[in-house]
Amino acid sequence: MQPAGIAALGLLGLALTTPPSLGQSAYPSRPITVIVPFAAGGPTDIVARIVTGHMAATLGQQIIIENVVGSGGTTAAIRAMRSTPDGYTIMMGHMGTHGAAVALNPTVGYSPSHDFEPIGMAVGMPVLILVRKKLPAENLTEFIAYLRDHAFPLTMAHAGLGSVSFATCLLFNSIIDAHPAMVAFQGTGPAMQALIAGRIDYMCDQIVSAAPQIGAGMIKSFAIASPQRSPILPDVPTAAEAGLEAFQVSAWNALFAPKRTPPTIITQLNDALGQALDDPLTRKQLLELGSEIPGTDGRTPGALTNLVNSEIVKWMPVTHSVTVTGR
Ligand code: ASP
Repeated sequence: MQPAGIAALGLLGLALTTPPSLGQSAYPSRPITVIVPFAAGGPTDIVARIVTGHMAATLGQQIIIENVVGSGGTTAAIRAMRSTPDGYTIMMGHMGTHGAAVALNPTVGYSPSHDFEPIGMAVGMPVLILVRKKLPAENLTEFIAYLRDHAFPLTMAHAGLGSVSFATCLLFNSIIDAHPAMVAFQGTGPAMQALIAGRIDYMCDQIVSAAPQIGAGMIKSFAIASPQRSPILPDVPTAAEAGLEAFQVSAWNALFAPKRTPPTIITQLNDALGQALDDPLTRKQLLELGSEIPGTDGRTPGALTNLVNSEIVKWMPVTHSVTVTGR
């Protein structure tokens, strides 16, 4: 046998005997892109930057946030679904992109269970009713009366059909029989700026972007749609305390990879996510913004699959019981 043939056999032998663990350490060998389905400055963007900031250190690679906006976050989901399943493109999804949007629109273009691998849940996220500072109401009862009896429709901001702000205020509006003029934004980051400027009357948004504005007196909040008040907003009553017990909703953010991403990579990403959620500084940042950090049982890919499936079932009646005008 020629020397080259002997060398080739040697390499083949080495390849066959190389323990798979060596191959695993090759990931990540270049920067990872995390697609955020909404504009910068919104709750999903805020959480993604905090959590992936620590993940980058654990993984030893730069993590690049790419804001891909449109269609309530579903444009980004389709982009992530179609990306190469190699662990270098993942997305920060949420209750809207992988729950309400799927329930609202059967032709959304993807199915979480069929087109994504769950990596793990990042945070739970209370939702609040937010109104512009000068709106003439001082509590939820007065606001509902103003919203119902006003001569012309008030304006409600949302981040696209199926987004958290859309789905949760859809439920709020259906409970109180309100029919606002709906105004879509590329995320509740820009929507918040419109609310602060008084160009929008109200919206339902997640605590991490609302809390600083409420604390600064830039907007008002009449209720948090959770069973308990938030420790960072002790003066905001629960919806039940404010007289609207039926309005119980919450959001969450979670990482997803395209289907067929290798299980070893999913495990590495899930481990890096868990280390971020256990890091004292990262926890402090997330908790100070009012988000809720899942325990270890709630962070597994299996737990995320169960959550996604239950959310789609939960939102189906809401999104289909209300005629979506999208005005
Ligand atoms: N979470 C979205 C954002 O970050 C807003 C939404 O889903 O309503 O802008």
